[in-house]
Amino acid sequence: MQNKRKGLMLVLSSPSGAGKTSICKRVLDKEKKIVMSISYTTRPKRKSEKNGFDYFFINKKKFDELKSNDYFVEYANVFDHYYGTPKDFIDKNLQNGIDVLFDIDWQGAQKLSNYSKDDMVSVFILPPNNKSLLERLKKRNEDSIKTVKKRMGKAKSEISHWIEYDYIVINKDLEQSANEVITILRAERKKRSRQKFVFDLIEDLTK
Ligand code: 5GP
Repeated sequence: MQNKRKGLMLVLSSPSGAGKTSICKRVLDKEKKIVMSISYTTRPKRKSEKNGFDYFFINKKKFDELKSNDYFVEYANVFDHYYGTPKDFIDKNLQNGIDVLFDIDWQGAQKLSNYSKDDMVSVFILPPNNKSLLERLKKRNEDSIKTVKKRMGKAKSEISHWIEYDYIVINKDLEQSANEVITILRAERKKRSRQKFVFDLIEDLTK
């Protein structure tokens, strides 16, 4: 029997500094048949980041051009910079039975849900407390103090969106949180509604 399951969209959101980017990387290291959706952004590149790996770093003119060509399935202004998710990449992978992982904010999650609700599984990552949130933002050490303060200030309004998500993971420990996300992914892959190909088997088994 051929596995014809369609891929799913696994969306991870959190207030910035909750460790979601590290969790995404861990999930990709540990799990097969899942790829990261790489967003386009007008935000300046951080020293540790690589173009085409963490993001595609582009200027506003190019962003507007892609936007008007319907290149993005969703885009948003986050902390004064634009971020957009390319559409073709998602469609191609889902059709090939490959899951796609997203590190996007609540605005993006809402728009992806409008795009294809049945294919989406959303997880909100929470920091265990305020102290660890501030420490993680500072430790990143690549953003200015002004940016850190702004992001900390925004965290509370971002957290208010937790209720819109399917699952909650409290990130006390990176390894444990990544494992929890993988558990969610594996269970979601097995959902009856995602295994339409089983119809053929059932027909065979019951004739
Ligand atoms: P950062 O600048 O720290 O990499 O990301 C800032 C915020 O933008 C994070 O919450 C991240 O999840 C979100 N983000 C990254 N890419 C996208 C995207 O393509 N769309 C949306 N809506 N948010 C994004």
